Amino acid sequence: MKVGVLALQGASAQHAAMLARLGAQPVAVRSVADLATVDALVLPGGESTTMSMLLESSGLFEPLAERLAGGMPAFGTCAGMILLGHEILDGRSDQRCFDAIDISVRRNAFGRQVDSFEADLAVAGVEAAPVHAVFIRAPVVESVGEDVDVLATVGRRPVLCRQGPVLVAAFHPELGDDPRLHELFLEEVV
Ligand code: GLN
Repeated sequence: MKVGVLALQGASAQHAAMLARLGAQPVAVRSVADLATVDALVLPGGESTTMSMLLESSGLFEPLAERLAGGMPAFGTCAGMILLGHEILDGRSDQRCFDAIDISVRRNAFGRQVDSFEADLAVAGVEAAPVHAVFIRAPVVESVGEDVDVLATVGRRPVLCRQGPVLVAAFHPELGDDPRLHELFLEEVV
């Protein structure tokens, strides 16, 4: 299966490596032609304001919005989660999102002092051992619609959510050596 990794900006290489390790064929997506070749898409972490701008200037925004509306499976991590959500709080005024999952997301909201932290998460459906999660200037999910399943939380905050073919994580599952969330995506969501 060809799984695209949006490669306009941000941490795409580690996602591609995880996908390859699991037997999928990763494709770096930078153009409309690239997008047309893939069955599913990972939107990586990075800077969502920059990605939003580059999605517009590359002409990818509308075709990607159409694929998502058509049910293409997608996995958004950190900035990628911000892009897939319904509403961005504390975004830039010209920043856009795809409304592919019914969540409101506040950027950089885990606190300015501590920009990054790590946590061991109990993840619904990934039972054997907790998932070690790295949060880097992470967004907070402030509200979820009723069709959204919350698969993991930090305190009361949802950090891993799913709605149909769309999976989002506030953290960076591509860092480290644990492929279980990419596996969850490929086996349960795609
Ligand atoms: N703070 C970034 C943003 O708003 C997200 C950080 C990340 O992807 N690690 O887009």
